[in-house]
Amino acid sequence: MGAVMQQPSEAPEPTFEAEYVLESPLGCPKCQVEISSLRVVRLLRGRVNFTSTLPRKGYVVLCPKCAGIISATLGGI
Ligand SMILES: [Zn+2]
Repeated sequence: MGAVMQQPSEAPEPTFEAEYVLESPLGCPKCQVEISSLRVVRLLRGRVNFTSTLPRKGYVVLCPKCAGIISATLGGI
């Protein structure tokens, strides 16, 4: 008899802007689940020192299963 995993029916779905399909499934480094897609959320600069030369935008790549941040990149959009 295995333990039944109770999944909350109204888990807050993280908002994401795009989903990208992986050419081959990969294991998420956070939750170890094999995933076949990645979600991308836009990163907008909120506060900045005015001498900063950092890009104004970027994006974060999330695991669709655990919503863990796999990668974050500045610029490039
Ligand atoms: Zn994950």
